[in-house]
Amino acid sequence: MARIVMKFGGTSMAGTERIRRVAQIVRKQAAGGNEVAVVVSAMAGETDRLVNFAREAHALYDPAEYDVVVASGEQVTSGLLALTLQSLGQKARSWLGWQLPVRTIEAHAKARVDSIDGEALLASMAEGTIAVIPGFQGMSAEGRVTTMGRGGSDTSAVAVAAAVGADRCDIYTDVDGVYTTDPRIVAKARKLKAVTYEEMLELASVGAKVLQTRSVSLAMKEGVRIQVLSSFVDDSATPADDLPGTLIVSEDEMERMVEEGLMERKLVTGIAHDKNEAKIILTRVPDKPGAVAEIFGPLAEASINVDMIIQNVGRDKGETDVTFTIPQTDLARAQALLEDKREAIGYNRIITDSHIAKISVVGVGMKSHAGVASDMFRALAERGINIQAITTSEIKVSVMIDEDETELAVRVLHTAYGLDAESEPA
Ligand code: ADP
Ligand code: ASP
Ligand code: MG
Repeated sequence: MARIVMKFGGTSMAGTERIRRVAQIVRKQAAGGNEVAVVVSAMAGETDRLVNFAREAHALYDPAEYDVVVASGEQVTSGLLALTLQSLGQKARSWLGWQLPVRTIEAHAKARVDSIDGEALLASMAEGTIAVIPGFQGMSAEGRVTTMGRGGSDTSAVAVAAAVGADRCDIYTDVDGVYTTDPRIVAKARKLKAVTYEEMLELASVGAKVLQTRSVSLAMKEGVRIQVLSSFVDDSATPADDLPGTLIVSEDEMERMVEEGLMERKLVTGIAHDKNEAKIILTRVPDKPGAVAEIFGPLAEASINVDMIIQNVGRDKGETDVTFTIPQTDLARAQALLEDKREAIGYNRIITDSHIAKISVVGVGMKSHAGVASDMFRALAERGINIQAITTSEIKVSVMIDEDETELAVRVLHTAYGLDAESEPA
């Protein structure tokens, strides 16, 4: 007998018919004598719809009220899945974030899981009632509803898996695993049998939205075993217990798989893109100590994450331009904040641009090999793609380019690093 946490994303939960299919998959997993808890997302498109309502109500919305609105999508699907399981003769009940509770800390709209009381879930599983938990939602120390950032149901699932000591956390989505790049962009993308936590963390943080970044860091910290697999399968498909999807594994486990010939080591493991950042340029900032702190201090206080930063070479008269990127969703708030601080910072103009994309190549092989970055720059240059900014980490190189060139850049790099599958997946 195993204890399994199963998570179903938005496309898997999109409508009563899809939910019925999910209920069958859940029931099959439970039928083998396993203890099962399920975490669900809102129906595909629902969270976007709710976010738009909040924005229309107030462009500079109060994040606490935003959370009240957007958390509702998961409440609907958790109730519907519990009902559908019951209609199949399976005992099930829903547990909302505040009922468990899923305690969270930090900012609304990007809350972090602090702790989950696993007791009620363990009792429910032990007596054969499937617990259905809405992903994405939690409760703040003040007792208010919180949400965990877009894609947060993945993190809910991993947190639940850690809380109940699950043997595995199966993340069901609309693709059958983690690929070398988004298979919806590159038809020649290859499915990976396994990826290390470290690489998956980096891939997720630069835009491979198949797993939320925090879900990977939490799984790494708590030692939760994750499998990514598809819910779009019929009864003849390989059972989840036989691991048909992609496993997220430790470095040691990966070494073993490579030695056994199950995995091939490549310099670059995957390529990701992110169109959700926006660029801000502040012109003629005083080129003196403390100026940059005046810009980034208030942004940090407002929990706005800054990614790439370029401080251009100083102009005449001790002035310089500062360029940086932030999440597009924070652009209106950041702009309002910076306009407020204009006197204190002493800049001349603020220019914003959402028409950018970040393309990143990731691989642990980079730790011991030089030349990955220069190969990237050459491959992009050969196709006339202009690079606006660059950042690197130990296992990643990212470039900022024009958003219109995203797909081309990803394809070109996928080929350049020898990642193309020999034949396209069926
Ligand atoms: P869910 O609603 O199930 O949470 P998401 O849309 O959040 O699903 O994530 C699944 C999507 O992630 C896929 O449909 C795919 O387009 C995208 N994706 C991006 N990069 C990758 C990758 N490297 N491997 C697999 N899928 C990826
Ligand atoms: N429904 C939320 C979102 O769309 C959370 C999730 O699906 O993971 O971001
Ligand atoms: Mg997701």
